Amino acid sequence: MSKNVIIYARYSTDRQHDVSIETQIELCKSFICDRGWHLIATFSDEAISGTTYQRRPGIQQVLDRVKKRDANVILCVTVDRISRDPEHGNGFLKRLRYSDCELWTVHGGTKVTDIEMGLRVTLSHELIDQIRYRTREGMKTAVRKGKSTTCLAYGYKIKLEYDAKGERIPGLREIDEEQAKIVKLIFQRYADGVSPRDIAVELNQQGITGPRGSTWRDTAIRGHVDRGTGILNNELYLGRAVWNRREYRKNPDTERRVARHNEQAEWVVDERPDLRIISDELWARVKRRQSQVLEEFQRTTTNHLNRSHRASYLLSGILECAECGGPYAIMAKDRYGCTNHKKKVPVAELDGACCSNQKTILRKELEDRVITCVPVAFLHFDAFEKIADRVLKKQMARHKAGVSTTAEFEAKLAQIKKDQQAIIAQISQRAAEGRRPLSALDDMLDKLEEQKEELENVLSRANDDLTKMSDEDRLRQLRKEINPETVETIINTAIYLARDHADTATKQPFIDIIRQLVQKVVIASTPGRQPPALEVHGRIASILAAMEAAQMMETRFRSMVEQDVLARELSGEVDTEDKKQKLLAGYAEELSRKQLEWQQIQVSVVAGAGFEPAAFRL
Ligand SMILES: [Zn+2]
Repeated sequence: MSKNVIIYARYSTDRQHDVSIETQIELCKSFICDRGWHLIATFSDEAISGTTYQRRPGIQQVLDRVKKRDANVILCVTVDRISRDPEHGNGFLKRLRYSDCELWTVHGGTKVTDIEMGLRVTLSHELIDQIRYRTREGMKTAVRKGKSTTCLAYGYKIKLEYDAKGERIPGLREIDEEQAKIVKLIFQRYADGVSPRDIAVELNQQGITGPRGSTWRDTAIRGHVDRGTGILNNELYLGRAVWNRREYRKNPDTERRVARHNEQAEWVVDERPDLRIISDELWARVKRRQSQVLEEFQRTTTNHLNRSHRASYLLSGILECAECGGPYAIMAKDRYGCTNHKKKVPVAELDGACCSNQKTILRKELEDRVITCVPVAFLHFDAFEKIADRVLKKQMARHKAGVSTTAEFEAKLAQIKKDQQAIIAQISQRAAEGRRPLSALDDMLDKLEEQKEELENVLSRANDDLTKMSDEDRLRQLRKEINPETVETIINTAIYLARDHADTATKQPFIDIIRQLVQKVVIASTPGRQPPALEVHGRIASILAAMEAAQMMETRFRSMVEQDVLARELSGEVDTEDKKQKLLAGYAEELSRKQLEWQQIQVSVVAGAGFEPAAFRL
């Protein structure tokens, strides 16, 4: 059926790269054209922020036009064009519905429901709750499964022990006495004032093999204090594996990332006195020297990193250079690069040398790689169902509260109608008696008509079909609309908006949600033209760690293969056993290649709560 469409576009000033009104209208027009619909009017608001909803002439024109009842659809590019405030958005929707008009977005490709609009706010809270809960549970599971030992730190070796069935118990480790001596030596030398660079030189001269069979590098020794990386910062040498001790948050005032210490109750501790290599006393000496070095550096350099860059993109402000620990920021043409490298400033962590990490990455590519795992993390728990359930309960409570006010308004409306009739009766009586019409009566009638219209508007907003239903029917109806699929759609929309497809106020809550999951992305150089390696830190890592990521990916892959083979057989493309075997062999090869990638995710998740999200590109 063809529809009559009104286009609405809005350009906002507080959005860095807002799509121009012309482009928005262009997009809407081609959407209308594709569907064979009919454009009847176009309205827009220029350079007006989303909050001043009441004072936007364009949107008021839309509402006036809708009253004519000749439009079926209001079309805009994204929902935030109407209002960034879901309450306003909902009011707008109800007024449209009152005039049998729908709201569609080009982005969504379908009509917007008020459930979708209203869910956003509730959903943000629910999501954050779920993330907090899942993280801790995820870490506990990972520790319990002994996954903490899949990645061996220098100083330890795999312990071979077999269970009753004669199968090796995975994940056990013990001290490697030879390497433990080197660990002690490194701590000792550093505490005595030798720099990591000189320690590395000494070890290499003595022909001692470094971690993973390589030569010694100062970075492997020094690491990063706040990240807990590097030999000098590995707390396992104290015989304790502690997860979730701190997390990274951004101070909204200073834009500085600070390590926030979690409450002790939040820690997940695995006490392993059998793995202790370093005494508390030596550890303390090393820590003292580290802070002296840092102080010294801060005193002698006047350089302060430029942190004023506004974190307006999804991942801005949480990107870190793997080499120097400095921030990655937008350099040019939407590319992130290491600021220390660009400015060639001496870096404390590199003993005053400059950062050599010249790798840059396109913002879009970076966001794509990091973001792909977010829905995966949610999908493979029952998070969607849980969230849908809780939102459902809240909606039910809200509707119950709404019923009483509705009754009040309905009574008022009935009174106004009665008053109107009384006045009309008076007017007609005067006319019948041949008396002069009274303008006062007309005015009263007009006033009542205005009040009536206003009340009807309010009622149309509150009195949707749901309130008239019985509790059971209402629940059934809500279930139809709020389900795991809706929640997933909304999460995907939220991610889309957070990726700079909405103005600041609209996207900020979603950026906050994503940052509850991804707290830091460390960007490392790779040879040649290869894309940089990414390591994602934060809650998402521990959620994925508990998920048996590799196993989950494999199951998905196998069922995909099954379906594909079946489809090819049915279509006649695969008609001989030979062809089928060839196809299967190809898939087997692909699987073994992918398995390697997937296993890496698991291992590195455990190592430092980081993983390689590129492996999630499916
Ligand atoms: Zn750097």
